[in-house]
Amino acid sequence: MAVKINLAKSAGFCFGVKRALEIAVKSTKKYKPVYMLGDIVHNETVVRQIQKSGIRKIKTLSAKKNAYLLIRAHGAPKAVFKKAKKLGYKIIDATCPMVKEIHRIASEREKQGYSIIIIGDKNHDEVKGIIGQLKYRPLVISNSQKLPIARLEKINKACIVAQSTQNLEKTLATVNKIKKYIPQLKFENTICNPTRQKQKEIKEMPKNNDVMIIIGSKSSANTKRLYQISKQLNPKTYWVNSKKALRKIWFKSAKKIGITAGASTPQETIQQVISRIKELTLV
Ligand code: SF4
Repeated sequence: MAVKINLAKSAGFCFGVKRALEIAVKSTKKYKPVYMLGDIVHNETVVRQIQKSGIRKIKTLSAKKNAYLLIRAHGAPKAVFKKAKKLGYKIIDATCPMVKEIHRIASEREKQGYSIIIIGDKNHDEVKGIIGQLKYRPLVISNSQKLPIARLEKINKACIVAQSTQNLEKTLATVNKIKKYIPQLKFENTICNPTRQKQKEIKEMPKNNDVMIIIGSKSSANTKRLYQISKQLNPKTYWVNSKKALRKIWFKSAKKIGITAGASTPQETIQQVISRIKELTLV
């Protein structure tokens, strides 16, 4: 009997990534030259395609006349916009609206006198972008670290926002722990809907499938989180970035194979992985 392949409804590009890619492709048809600071999303295939379409990747900003700078879905600090404009770039802003909403909430709460706490990865571009909207440096806490209690105890009134792709349960647990130390604490749940849907599915799929395949780049934070959740529920969880990484032995005696993919994984890669699994599981 052929194995059953169950693909998650939320597998692959989220709304924000799709939108950013559309903006990027359209912009290359209208404007030249277009630059982007770093990768548009954390996926090598997508980055290659974008570069082929004519967008040039740069590491730092330097003076350019009549050039365009594409701001990625993760957003960027205010200082980047300012510097780019000063150096002569025109801005094409592909920041995801849900990331913009985090910027808005954090800035407003700061103006209202709240200290801002971000739950997220301090090295992630989205978090750097949120930090870069604020007047005062916020405290960034990752769900896996020990709480900086001495610093928390000095805060009287704070607002917590979360990086859009954080794990919901872990974030709620961290918020509960922080509550003990800050008298006036507000939590704005800024984990985006596409992330929540993905996390909802990944809590069920590993229990209902013999093997789980998670597709996405090793540099993708949201793919990593999908993998971690799945692995806890089903040890037969494997993380691949392309069909080449699949191994026949993983599927030995499997009847049901669940598949999901990070928010920056293209449909093309997902379909290639599915076809390869079908080949590998043919008796
Ligand atoms: S993961 Fe969420 S916030 Fe990030 S780009 Fe996608 S939709 Fe936007």
